[in-house]
Amino acid sequence: MNSLKKILEKRILNFGPMSISDFMIESNQNPNFGYYNTSFPFGKKGDFITAPEVSQMFGELIGLWIVDCWQKMGEPKKFNIIELGPGTGILILDALRAINLNQKCKKACNKIYLLEISNKLKKIQKKNLLKKNFNFFNKIEWVNTIEKIEDSPFVLIANEFFDALPVQQIELTQKGWRERLINFNNKKKFYFTLSNHRTLLEKFLPNLLEENIKIGEIYEVPVQMIVLLNEIFKKISKIKSFILIIDYIKKETYGSTIKSIKNQKILNPLKHPGLSDMSVNVDFNIIKRISKNFNLKQHGPKTQRNFLIKLGILERAKILNKNAKLKERKNMNSSLDFLINENKMGKIFQAISLSNCNVKNPDGF
Ligand code: SAH
Repeated sequence: MNSLKKILEKRILNFGPMSISDFMIESNQNPNFGYYNTSFPFGKKGDFITAPEVSQMFGELIGLWIVDCWQKMGEPKKFNIIELGPGTGILILDALRAINLNQKCKKACNKIYLLEISNKLKKIQKKNLLKKNFNFFNKIEWVNTIEKIEDSPFVLIANEFFDALPVQQIELTQKGWRERLINFNNKKKFYFTLSNHRTLLEKFLPNLLEENIKIGEIYEVPVQMIVLLNEIFKKISKIKSFILIIDYIKKETYGSTIKSIKNQKILNPLKHPGLSDMSVNVDFNIIKRISKNFNLKQHGPKTQRNFLIKLGILERAKILNKNAKLKERKNMNSSLDFLINENKMGKIFQAISLSNCNVKNPDGF
């Protein structure tokens, strides 16, 4: 049995069944045994592949998107870039290469804040960003919380970040909504169970007529995402800024989307805590609902396919293809297909932007 399993077992034996979000936090973020601190998740040889790892074009287009936002903000003399959960740092690295082409924007870029929880990934990001940083390195600062970020106009990017944050779940029973918890049985297996008590999580339910919801239906409450979005939106409502969120979209309001990925395969999420990536699909309706409370403008959601095509990925691929050898060209075409094909990443990933700027739409929307 791995060490994290032992820790979780002890905790349940001592304190009773635990919330799903606590289980996910331990599984992904435990400083000693959590997935993001012990494994190398990314890339073709890793457990899963993210869009910037598929092709440099993704990060480059995001870089151009940042420049466009800065222009739409009225070219402030000082602005910050924020990335949530930078993975290996490749997205921001490719983006900086594109921003580097606009010297005025580069000069205006005051700080680049990277919000990262994993010490292991922080080290990898530092190494990768030091290698080739286009003189941006002294502007980069790692932070653990949004509070540490100074109040200047900013452009914030979050690609496949919110799907890594923990959720709690509630289930409709004959007695009303009850929280789903995780217990441990004498066969040494984790299993889902229900709390006997009413739950405050009910207040997060969308305002739909309850009679439409069947007994046994599950609603996911992404508590950490809600807290973080409130902090970010509070910041943006004070200063001209743009936010871009790209993530696995949750199609249905109800239902469990918790999954666990190891070696590019989906596994039982309770079987391998700390050894596989636990994630969920992201409820964009919650993002929209919270942003309304702050009177932000919403752009999208748009499928990753349409977003990237509108940003010019087909043209960029043509230019790169011109200078490439046959093998590189083949690789590039299959990467392009992976990013925009609706049966691959093109449709399950969607982009939404939020701003407080009085502009029609940022690029890509
Ligand atoms: N954006 C990257 C990586 C996505 S994986 C890409 O597109 O390739 C999720 C990233 O978020 C990892 O870097 C992980 O360590 C980080 N992360 C997960 N939970 C976090 C949290 N609560 N706070 C800060 N970073 C977190």
